[in-house]
Amino acid sequence: LGGHKRRHWEKGDEQVPQGLNLASTSSGGRGLDLNLPAPIDDDEDGDSSSSSSSDLGLNLSDEEGLYYGLNLRGTNFLILRARLGGKHGHIAELHRHEVSIPSNLMVSTSGVGKDLVDDINRALEKQGVDMPVSALVNDTVGDLVGGRYYSSDTVVAVTLGMTTNAAYVEPAEAVPKWHGPLPKSGEMVINMEWGNFSSSHLPITEFDTCLDAESSNPGDRIFEKLISGMYLGEIVRRVLLKMAKETALFGESVPPKLKMPYVLRSPDMAAMHQDTSEDREVVGEKLECIFGITVSTPMVREVVAEVCDIVAERGARLAGAGIVGILKKLGRIETRKRSVVTVEGGLYEHYRLFRNYLHSSVWEMLGSEFSDNVVIEHSHGGSGIGAVLLAALPSRFP
Ligand code: ADP
Repeated sequence: LGGHKRRHWEKGDEQVPQGLNLASTSSGGRGLDLNLPAPIDDDEDGDSSSSSSSDLGLNLSDEEGLYYGLNLRGTNFLILRARLGGKHGHIAELHRHEVSIPSNLMVSTSGVGKDLVDDINRALEKQGVDMPVSALVNDTVGDLVGGRYYSSDTVVAVTLGMTTNAAYVEPAEAVPKWHGPLPKSGEMVINMEWGNFSSSHLPITEFDTCLDAESSNPGDRIFEKLISGMYLGEIVRRVLLKMAKETALFGESVPPKLKMPYVLRSPDMAAMHQDTSEDREVVGEKLECIFGITVSTPMVREVVAEVCDIVAERGARLAGAGIVGILKKLGRIETRKRSVVTVEGGLYEHYRLFRNYLHSSVWEMLGSEFSDNVVIEHSHGGSGIGAVLLAALPSRFP
């Protein structure tokens, strides 16, 4: 629980899918050959320039069936029940239920290194539920599949929550490390694991370097440490700590709680950043309850909000640059193909200014001439929907 690889399990109550085709790519990511479900928007206008539904066509079972998608997230567990079926394989009924993960289970180590599918199968059996787990899907890939169902132009999925990742659809012949038979669809899904990306061109500061060095995984997931919800507040805390030490921002002594790693979470950072009250009262309240800073002037609060703004803008623009990089790699900018980018995750969903910065950076990088062809949208049903649909693709799992 709480690791960066959140996963899904699905169950087809009639047929059991039989595995996934995985391939390595030159970027070190992994490719997944799958025929994605039929989009429900199905290009009525017959726009042949976009990836058509026949290229990545639907091959869900014709039989009706009840499918479950289980999405294990950082803090909650999302359960989806979908009735699929009929010749068109559309979702006929969808129910969602979310439960909080009890904190004692979050810190438990009993699941570490064990096969989670085995664990779930055993637990279901113990409860007398006849429900075999049929597929285990990376959540960003699941989101891409779900996005594809809603729009055939969906070519990229991005996760921006506690962690970050991206997946996209690539012509199979452009995957040099794939030596197996080419998929019928001609296309593959690449799971980038972009949180692992690192480059000397990234705008790494002393705060990032220290955060990384003191983290549990130094040297790993450098891109994620600049962008994701797990780290944004911690970067802000480190900047404020330095200001407190060097400029006595919060008075002569440094507030002890300001020295506590990860005490500032991104929802609180967002609340301070987005505080529109005249004297930034929310900033004052947060400083008091998080850092024990009882007195702060409006000017100090303004500085705190400004630090939040800088850190959020940097993260959002880097995520935006990643999206533009994928679209360029796919050649979708110059060809002006309509491209939908589906984004899932609490950071994108709930942090309005982060989202705005991400959108505006993509528009800025593409320019008005090309940006009209790119749609960035919050995912419709999240990765759980994709997981449900994958569970319903028995013929895809040899
Ligand atoms: P997870 O990434 O844990 O699977 P989510 O996709 O729901 O789950 O993302 C949760 C993360 O999103 C939180 O850890 C937090 O970093 C971020 N987040 C949630 N709500 C907000 C908010 N209001 N403002 C800023 N960030 C938020």
